[in-house]
Amino acid sequence: MIQVNVERIKDRQGETLLFREEVGLSHIDREEIPFAGPVDIEIELTSSDKTIQAEGTVKAVIQRPCDRCLSPVEVLIEAPFKEIYFSTSTTQDNLLQDEWISFKNEVIDIEPEVIKSLITALPMKTLCDQNCRGLCPSCGQNFNTGKCACSEEEIDPRLVELREIIKLKHGEKN
Ligand SMILES: [Zn+2]
Ligand SMILES: [Zn+2]
Repeated sequence: MIQVNVERIKDRQGETLLFREEVGLSHIDREEIPFAGPVDIEIELTSSDKTIQAEGTVKAVIQRPCDRCLSPVEVLIEAPFKEIYFSTSTTQDNLLQDEWISFKNEVIDIEPEVIKSLITALPMKTLCDQNCRGLCPSCGQNFNTGKCACSEEEIDPRLVELREIIKLKHGEKN
């Protein structure tokens, strides 16, 4: 739970509250976001007559394997946060919007939306370096740290194809 107490601004149109905190979310066991440190949250909450609008930024460092060489990479995610909450005790059902999120009493738990924002902002690619040379497909040697015996003989992929054709012609099988 990441609890934000909105007692001071609830039902007071135009009142704002700044929520700024570093929270540990390592208990969240989700494969997509393996946290490498606390999550930095900075959100401004603004009260209107029916709702509380929350807007800000969520930052976290996660650790993921490099797409090419699998070595661990720390990735900073900076996600925008924008949600609308409403109090179940003050809002009439017919005024509700689908995307609004309900809360009871004076406390909003923003944890689900924090996680959601971070997941939405995950980068498509993770690379330890733009020029990462990856792993040898045969023996797994990390080419960033050195060569392997297989890579001594650098094979042009077109040559591999040619070899396969020759093998077929000679009736050999792999
Ligand atoms: Zn890499
Ligand atoms: Zn190799």
